[in-house]
Amino acid sequence: MGRIFNFSAGPSILPVEVLEEASRQLVDYNNSGMSLIEMSHRGKIYDEVHSGAIVLVREILQVPDDYEIIFIQGGATLQFGMVPMALLTADSSADFVVTGTWAKKAYQDARLIGNAQIIWDGADEKYRRIPSIDELSLHDDAVYVHICSNETIDGIQWQQLPDTGGIPLIVDMSSDIMSRPVDWNKVSMLFAGTQKNLAPAGMALVIMKKSLVGKARKDIPAYLRYDLHANENSLYNTPPTFTVWMTNLTLHWLKRIGGLPEIEKRRDRKAAMLYDAIDNSGGYYTSPVDKNSRSTMNVVWHMPDEQLENKFVNDAEKEGLSGLKGHRSVGGLRASIYNAMPVEGVQTLVEFMHRFMEKHG
Ligand code: PMP
Repeated sequence: MGRIFNFSAGPSILPVEVLEEASRQLVDYNNSGMSLIEMSHRGKIYDEVHSGAIVLVREILQVPDDYEIIFIQGGATLQFGMVPMALLTADSSADFVVTGTWAKKAYQDARLIGNAQIIWDGADEKYRRIPSIDELSLHDDAVYVHICSNETIDGIQWQQLPDTGGIPLIVDMSSDIMSRPVDWNKVSMLFAGTQKNLAPAGMALVIMKKSLVGKARKDIPAYLRYDLHANENSLYNTPPTFTVWMTNLTLHWLKRIGGLPEIEKRRDRKAAMLYDAIDNSGGYYTSPVDKNSRSTMNVVWHMPDEQLENKFVNDAEKEGLSGLKGHRSVGGLRASIYNAMPVEGVQTLVEFMHRFMEKHG
């Protein structure tokens, strides 16, 4: 069976070149006589892959020298707890912009540690939009502000990150990492689970200003200490070597095709194709989110009734378009169009949408 178009939200599609390269090298890595994932993580061969991935992150995202790049297991969810454990104390506070499911989860974990304060909540508007900067009343004494740059479930995305002045901005970029440049004048820390735009599941990429690493608590269990991970080049303990290897290969692919400028072009083209199909359907397909908050990574939409939505998902699956069911908490449809999704995949989906509407609309 050939490859189908996989629109899953994560784990999600990876570049086919990356999968092919990995399968060529899986059993015998570069004539070493063993697989990379069987080797010591302290050896020279693995180190090249590991350090190479970190160098590529720095290069592609143009990460300044005063930021650490760290790989940590536990996905983005561990970061929801690890950030407040490191930076928030019982007598300090942090601000949260609750734009959807994922920002809310971060808030809920932080609340267990210290004084987490919601400074904007989109729940009453069903997480339909990203707030404008003047709707946010930051607390001057907050130790950080948390936002989620792209809400994977609700399909909304900050078009521009807010300027929080002197208060460190911490961004969960799990679902739009490597799809846009990062303005390091605004961002003190970001983290992202790898299973969307980087690799399979198994770790988070963390990029953190050195001054913030310096402020992180040290009287906590070792694995939760950012300073240890940073000082040991993310080799404090055994890293998820397969995921790091795949990250390396994906970043090489990204660089080869032209880096972020090329990815941004493809991203905008793919997103425009899908939103046009929704907007030009005469109301058959409807987008629940505000136009100026639309995500370029996770496109969500509804259809006249749930039965039709189910039929759409099932019929699409038969045509090799997989993973289009919306998240169980919000229903509807969702197409995740991460970096590895080719324009051709979106073209095929859009044609299917036209045909489905002609037949059942
Ligand atoms: N943040 C966002 C924006 C996500 O999309 C996800 C997962 N879909 C998470 C956090 C949680 O990530 P993980 O499953 O890697 O813990």
